[in-house]
Amino acid sequence: MSVILPRRRFISSTLAAIPAAALPFGRLFAAADDAVVEDVEAVTSDRKQIILKGADVRDFAARLRGDLLLQSSVGYDTARHAWNGAFDRHPALIARCSGPADVMEAVKFAAAHQLLVSVRGGGHSLSGQCVCEKGLMIDLAQMNSARVDPARRTATIEGGALLGALDREALAHGLATTAGTVSHTGVGGLTLGGGFGRLGRKFGLACDNVRAIDLVTADGKFLIANSKENKDLFWGLRGGGGNFGVATSFEFQLHRVNPVMVGGDLTYSFADAPAVLKFMFESAAHVPDELNMDVSLLRLPNDQRMLSINVCYNGDAAGADKALAGMRSIRTPLADTVALAPYVKLQQSGDARAAAGRKYYIKGGFVQQSTDALIDVMMATIADAKLPLPQAVNMQQAGGAIARVKPTATAFAQRAIQYNMFVLASWADPAQSQSVGEWAHSAWKKIEPHTHGFYVNEFNDDSGRLKATYGVNYDRLVALKTRYDRNNLFRLNANVQPNPSARA
Ligand SMILES: Cc1cc2nc3c(=O)[nH]c(=O)nc-3n(C[C@H](O)[C@H](O)[C@H](O)COP(=O)(O)OP(=O)(O)OC[C@H]3O[C@@H](n4cnc5c(N)ncnc54)[C@H](O)[C@@H]3O)c2cc1C
Repeated sequence: MSVILPRRRFISSTLAAIPAAALPFGRLFAAADDAVVEDVEAVTSDRKQIILKGADVRDFAARLRGDLLLQSSVGYDTARHAWNGAFDRHPALIARCSGPADVMEAVKFAAAHQLLVSVRGGGHSLSGQCVCEKGLMIDLAQMNSARVDPARRTATIEGGALLGALDREALAHGLATTAGTVSHTGVGGLTLGGGFGRLGRKFGLACDNVRAIDLVTADGKFLIANSKENKDLFWGLRGGGGNFGVATSFEFQLHRVNPVMVGGDLTYSFADAPAVLKFMFESAAHVPDELNMDVSLLRLPNDQRMLSINVCYNGDAAGADKALAGMRSIRTPLADTVALAPYVKLQQSGDARAAAGRKYYIKGGFVQQSTDALIDVMMATIADAKLPLPQAVNMQQAGGAIARVKPTATAFAQRAIQYNMFVLASWADPAQSQSVGEWAHSAWKKIEPHTHGFYVNEFNDDSGRLKATYGVNYDRLVALKTRYDRNNLFRLNANVQPNPSARA
């Protein structure tokens, strides 16, 4: 493949990262608009091989303000790598969109050629589905602005922005809303699928705090979905994942918070874990909404096993001490780092542990009722873990404001759950991939019977569990998908399949 359509802006923005000798500047500058583009091999959404004519690809590039990357382009490899290093996919084309107009062009091009499409927001999909093999990747990484209106207490966040941008801009005004627990995760994917986080029990899921979404639908049209316009889509976008289009911007409701909260980790010995978990589960219904406690029962590569509870109390130190008294007395923690801390720092506290580029394997589901039998299975899972890499059973707490939203009020139906639970392993050496898969499969087989449905942001499961996940909302989501994406252009997600026999 000989060419690409790099623009001046593209070259200058990537200049710093590229050794000078690797850049044939003259040729690239000269090639910008009159380059000959060779035909491109690609696949359709049902994986048929096709050839995109070079002239069509060049015309497409010319309609974009951002850049179109081919496999030979400078920057292609950086753009195609997402957070989970377990996946190594090569899109035929990457459209690095600079705004909604680019997204509209990209969707129209994909629809016209029936191309396989993936959408990349923050690039943190655990299933790696933001990058497609031989299709068109619609890359929103450069659409990452975050702007707060302190008077209205709202934040307008572009579709490719990261959670850290939302937290930082909002906190500057003493405001916040629910965001996930690792600040380099994307706002787009997290919010469309639900969005658990340290403030969720107080303010609801991230999607519960969305007031409006700018969306490009499968026909390449732009619309605004809110409580007055396109209400059906507004409902489906809050929990329905990436099924309905490309969200180019979100407007969030923010809440007044104290930028300094109380947080840290309570770490217990593995031997004490059953008693602590039992106490936690039994008291979960009575803890204040201000308190969020996420569980990690883990085994480290040095064979140490422990229970770590990540705490965030959205209130003052006295309130936190009262809320945590039971946790501190049921067993004495090995370490207790819970203290006053800036919320923005708490939100970054897990960033390093979730480093991009490592390989991650995850299997998960929702826990409606935590039981002694579940504790036994969790303990056995970590007792049996033997690989020379981190292995964990994690639980993210729900309840509080999340549970007070009616299951049918948004597409996110599983309001009564106590926890979102998942087994997780991470590794770097490809030789370990098989043993990790075997461990996670056998661990999950034992845990799965204690769960009901799963979190669509954690993986894509076409085994029939999606219906259980969406429960009372499933049929409405199918109707919405059939209406807005009849050809299932947006299928690389926890896919709600359109009904082809329904009338248009
Ligand atoms: C380290 C880490 C920590 C996490 N912590 C939490 C947590 O605390 N709480 C929680 O709820 N979840 C958490 N998650 C899960 C997270 O919600 C999903 O991985 C989510 O998909 C990430 O969104 P993203 O935009 O970064 O991902 P991407 O990989 O960019 O996108 C994932 C999918 O979302 C869709 N998508 C993304 N952006 C858009 C958009 N703008 N328009 C349309 N579709 C879009 C696409 O279908 C895409 O395939 C975490 C994940 C990781 C890797």
